[in-house]
Amino acid sequence: MDFDTIAAISTPMGEGAISIVRLSGDDAIKIGGKIFKGVAGKDLETVQSHTIHYGHIIDPDTDQTVEEVMVSVMKGPKTFTREDVIEINCHGGLVSVNRVLQLALRQGARLAEPGEFTKRAFLNGRIDLSQAEAVMDLIRAKTDRAMNVALGQMEGRLSKLIKRLRQEILEVVAHVEVNIDYPEYDDVEEMTHRMLDEKARMIRQELQKLLQTSQQGKILREGLSTAIIGRPNVGKSSLLNSLVQENKAIVTDIPGTTRDVIEEYVNVRGVPLRLIDTAGIRETEDIVERIGVERSRQVLKEADLILLVLNSADSLTKEDEQLFKAVEGMDVIVIINKTDLPQKVNMDRVRELAKEHKMVTTSLLEDKGIDTLEESIASMFFEGSLEAGDMTYVSNSRHIALISQALHSIEEVLSGIEFGTPIDIIQIDLTRTWELLGEIIGDTVQESLLNQLFSQFCLGK
Ligand code: GDP
Ligand code: ZN
Repeated sequence: MDFDTIAAISTPMGEGAISIVRLSGDDAIKIGGKIFKGVAGKDLETVQSHTIHYGHIIDPDTDQTVEEVMVSVMKGPKTFTREDVIEINCHGGLVSVNRVLQLALRQGARLAEPGEFTKRAFLNGRIDLSQAEAVMDLIRAKTDRAMNVALGQMEGRLSKLIKRLRQEILEVVAHVEVNIDYPEYDDVEEMTHRMLDEKARMIRQELQKLLQTSQQGKILREGLSTAIIGRPNVGKSSLLNSLVQENKAIVTDIPGTTRDVIEEYVNVRGVPLRLIDTAGIRETEDIVERIGVERSRQVLKEADLILLVLNSADSLTKEDEQLFKAVEGMDVIVIINKTDLPQKVNMDRVRELAKEHKMVTTSLLEDKGIDTLEESIASMFFEGSLEAGDMTYVSNSRHIALISQALHSIEEVLSGIEFGTPIDIIQIDLTRTWELLGEIIGDTVQESLLNQLFSQFCLGK
């Protein structure tokens, strides 16, 4: 394909000692050559591909040295974009890396749009859409586990499975097509409802399996939304602080919700938690008291995990009982705090209220019990079954939506078969399934969707 040469700073702004200016396109090496002066007097345009060169970036207008650099020269198609690529490794700060970029732009490169390098890799056939999205996930990966999921996807695991399913569907569609177009050919076996039924069931099962993994995938990517609830003064803020202190808080670029809440991301033994400090926690107010039982139920409904804190140095109150009722049927860990003080709480009643929920005793003041709590959280969500690498995870909400739709069409196929609908009608839903799965790997995707997807990338990727 024919593209102009793009350039961008491809390392995070203000992070790390080395910054890289990346150029991609037909003129990448020529433009690089105009601003680079190698110590050995080498010309970038004549050096071998995939070599790295030491020298200086010179402003061709003033002959002034701008930066000391290492330049990698990579000729297409064996590059990320399949185009000619050069990477200028600068060690100066932001100011000098910016000057290098400006020089490249002045020599004819165009500033890359967000995600444009990855978009080119896709358009030039280097990667498929789900792999491109995996790159995006990788950039945003919040924890090691999330990183492994993204990597697994990058290897094309999901793509492979989707391609296999599409192939199966295509074979059936082709078979039906032949039957419709050439009814007089009796050597083409008639695609019976029974045969179709068998295939459609197999595809349905695979899609259902994929969707089952999606819940875990979503958790890994966005963090388990975790609400800390309890009466005033039981130790909610103390719990939030211990979890944040013990586990390196995860820096996130996910925009906060519009709700009046504070969120902290922490990584607890590989489980990313989005701790939700419900409105009022900071003011030692109580969520039930402040916004009422009905409204707090609404907030709680959105949580994946509830940490319900009790004060064991106090008797249970009506509010405590209300909270237990509000979280019925949810994933709850009951935290019985302040065990360092004389105990007043009726533990029999607590056990009765907690039912099947896990219970952990803590003294947040003395730093006791946090380990056990963390273990409970991790075992609740991993139970050893979520070892990264041996499953296909679907962690992307667009993929999840497409797989659900594909599952819906294949169910239409199955009910069509059940009611004896003519095969050429059933085939419409079958083709639809094929198209929907194709959108995951970018096969039938429209241009507008592409632009929307790639503009989500960080600049320079
Ligand atoms: P919140 O209103 O539920 O957020 O409770 P805070 O975390 O603000 O704690 C209320 C008070 O209880 C503070 O003075 C804490 O220092 C204290 N506190 C928290 N946890 C413990 C504990 O385990 N033992 C004791 N003795 N005091 C605690
Ligand atoms: Zn508090």
